[in-house]
Amino acid sequence: MSVILGHDEVRQSFGEAMHENRLHHAWLLYGVKGIGKASVANDLAALFLCQSPDAQRHVACGQCHACAMLHAGSHPDLSRVELLWDHTKKKFNRDINIEQTRDALAFLALSGLKSKRRVLLIDGANLMNNQAANALLKGLEEPTDGSLLLMVCHDLMRLPATIRSRCMMQACAPLNEAEMQQVLDMQGLDKKLHELAIDLGQGSPGRVEALLDGQHAKALLAWQKMLESLDKSDIGQMQQWLEKHVKEIPHDLITNMVLSAAHQAMLSATSWEKSSAIYDALLCVASWPKEVVRHTLRPAPALLSYILQLRSALKIRA
Ligand SMILES: [Zn+2]
Repeated sequence: MSVILGHDEVRQSFGEAMHENRLHHAWLLYGVKGIGKASVANDLAALFLCQSPDAQRHVACGQCHACAMLHAGSHPDLSRVELLWDHTKKKFNRDINIEQTRDALAFLALSGLKSKRRVLLIDGANLMNNQAANALLKGLEEPTDGSLLLMVCHDLMRLPATIRSRCMMQACAPLNEAEMQQVLDMQGLDKKLHELAIDLGQGSPGRVEALLDGQHAKALLAWQKMLESLDKSDIGQMQQWLEKHVKEIPHDLITNMVLSAAHQAMLSATSWEKSSAIYDALLCVASWPKEVVRHTLRPAPALLSYILQLRSALKIRA
């Protein structure tokens, strides 16, 4: 069974409700990306289907036949809905469509093969298109006995209010520093990178996944080094770094490192002129990942020009 930290309260309220036979038929787990919501949903599904769940700790036993089937990914009473891979276009579909929700509801309506219970897990509920969401609504209004719907969502506003209002809403908090530390340890992240990962991850291990790749981690450490003395660093070197890595390293990691490097300088600037110049430059840096997606500008030169703007701001004498 997976161990995901930082969501104990969600597990507990689910476990207690289940134990006391008052489990709501639809749960919606929401919170920022990358904090392990889908893993929590998997654990809740396991707890629901397990034949001898631990009533104190609210975890599945990991030993019974149901747990073994879940582990093997072959439990007949669990179904998942997520974005489908389009083989002809060789990419994921843009949304979860109505056929998927209809099939899923048909699955829920059958009584459980193994346990008289059935679980439907929708990962990325915010990706359902309107038709899919409307079809799902019907299932929420007329739940079948023994059925459980678990939904995971990072963008609550993309989900119709009619759906939200029929679910048990559970917020999943970002992890605190100690929990982040534990997850990073479990993932085997190099100790040298922990501080950077905690700083950039902001409670979401998923955000800093790129650091688990040795090559990326090395590159980001070099980037951090260049940013330490941003007002004096070698622009040619920065340009080279960007040209080389801008395609493979997530853009928000690159920019967040620039932002965090210059943040202190902005706060400690002693003149209004200087702090507002730094602020303007930082706004440009922060908008860069979105600009790259929206326009067809060349990413490396664009960011480099913002960094140059930031450097001249840092050099303003107070
Ligand atoms: Zn079990």
